[in-house]
Amino acid sequence: MKPKQFAIIGLGRFGASLGLELMEQGYEVLGIDRNEEVVEDMSELLTHTVVADATDEEVLKSLGIRNFDCGIVAIGNDIQMSILSAILLKELGVGMVVAKAISVLHGRALERLGVDRVIFPERDMGIRVAHQLVTPNLLDY
Ligand code: ATP
Repeated sequence: MKPKQFAIIGLGRFGASLGLELMEQGYEVLGIDRNEEVVEDMSELLTHTVVADATDEEVLKSLGIRNFDCGIVAIGNDIQMSILSAILLKELGVGMVVAKAISVLHGRALERLGVDRVIFPERDMGIRVAHQLVTPNLLDY
């Protein structure tokens, strides 16, 4: 069976870590970042990497983004960039769109755009660690 293909927009700490783990699990990962240095650092570690502005619709089309099973917007600090990239991924027909939010309002905006899953990394990790601390023998998931 063809492996699931993931496109990650933004290769900061969250995007890079997600991409590396997906590679480790045997999936194909395209990493997109507008910062050349960041892309250079990840170029050997992901299936494909591209220096591009993810708010450029033509670039996303030329990368065949609609053929990806899952697109992850891993931009946090720049809410405008996060929202514009998420809209484009949805409009261009990516199967499932996941986006990272840095605040409740940011998360609500992403949900309103139709993002399939909004992640709050710090909040979600806090919950996870709390469960691990109080649940005996809980396996890591
Ligand atoms: P992390 O906490 O995961 O390190 P962050 O929220 O601190 O991320 P951001 O500034 O949000 O970092 O950006 C994450 C990455 O997204 C950066 O490497 C940045 O270059 C990239 N990025 C930001 N905007 C765009 C864009 N329009 N197109 C492509 N990449 C972008």
